[in-house]
Amino acid sequence: MTEPSRYPESPVVLPLDDWLYEAHPVAGCSTCAKAVTALEAAKKSGDANARFEAARIVRRHPHGATA
Ligand SMILES: [Zn+2]
Repeated sequence: MTEPSRYPESPVVLPLDDWLYEAHPVAGCSTCAKAVTALEAAKKSGDANARFEAARIVRRHPHGATA
């Protein structure tokens, strides 16, 4: 007699935690430097996707291979 319960919120809306935007650039790393520049620019322009992408680059590229 009652409808099956539904999700109270849209399930496609993912919570974007701060860590997704967090970047820990390594000093002297040109890839980090570029990504951080892009991150700051994205932050100013309010482009959340570009911001996420830039933060991801910082997190995912390898370090220590080159000086
Ligand atoms: Zn780096």
